[in-house]
Amino acid sequence: MDKILRERRERKSLNTNLIIFGPPGAGKGTYTSRLATRLKIVSIATGDMFREEIKRGTTLGKKVADFVNQGALVPDEIVVDILEKRIKEPNSKKGFILDGYPRTVQQAQALDKIAKIDAVIQIIVPEWIIIERLSNRRICRNCGAIYNLRFLKPKIEGICDKCGGQLYQREDDKPEVIKERLKVYEKQTQPLIEYYKRKIPVIEVETPQIETPPETIVEKMINELKKTNIIKTIEPQ
Ligand code: ADP
Ligand code: ZN
Repeated sequence: MDKILRERRERKSLNTNLIIFGPPGAGKGTYTSRLATRLKIVSIATGDMFREEIKRGTTLGKKVADFVNQGALVPDEIVVDILEKRIKEPNSKKGFILDGYPRTVQQAQALDKIAKIDAVIQIIVPEWIIIERLSNRRICRNCGAIYNLRFLKPKIEGICDKCGGQLYQREDDKPEVIKERLKVYEKQTQPLIEYYKRKIPVIEVETPQIETPPETIVEKMINELKKTNIIKTIEPQ
C-alpha cells in the first residue's frame, strides 16, 4: 500500500524537462512523440509551431514565413517569445521535450531563465544511414504521403498508393545536399552540446543499424534516463 502510494506520488511529480538533438533524417520526430507518450509529458517542436502559424495566416506566421520557407533561422527574439508562451501553458507543467529548440547558445541562455532542463538526449546516427534513408525518400506531389524506395516502396514505381499522384524527390534529399545539411547541423549543435555538458547529463543514444525499430531506441533512452535518476517510475508499456 505504502509503496503504491509512494510510486503514485513520484509519478505525479515526474515533470521531467528534456531537450532532444538529432541530425536530419535521424527519425527524431518519431522518437520524440513516442518518448513523450511513454513519459506522459508533452513534446514541443518549434518548427511545427511556426508551420502552424503560417498555415493559419496569423501575424506571427507572416513574420516568420520567409525565414521558415528558406530554411533560415527565425530571429532569436521571436523564437524565445513563442517558446516562453508555450512553456507557460498549463500542460507544459507535467514536463516537456523540446524538439528544434535551442538552435543557438543565446536561445539556450534564454531557456535557462524560463525553465529548468533536466537532461539532453543526443541521437547519434552514422552518416551513411542518414544518406541511405533520405536519398531514398520520395514524396507524393498531390497528398504529401512519404515513401522510401528501400523500406516503404509504392506498389507502382513513381506513383502514390493512396491517391495515384506522382512521387518526387525533395531537392534537399539529394546526397550532396544531405551532406551539407549534416554539416550545418553539426556546426549548430556542437556548441549547444558543450554548453549543456557542463551543466546537466547529456545522454547519447546511437542507432547503429538502419533497421533498428523505434521502440528499441526509445527504450534505450528511457533506460539511460533512469540511470541518471531523472525519471524514477514509469508504467510499463
Ligand atoms: P527542420 O526542417 O530543419 O527539421 P524544424 O521543423 O525544426 O526544422 O524547423 C523548421 C524551421 O522553423 C527552421 O528551418 C527555422 O526556420 C524555424 N525554426 C524552428 N525552430 C527554430 C529555432 N529554435 N530557432 C530559429 N528558427 C527555428
Ligand atoms: Zn498521394
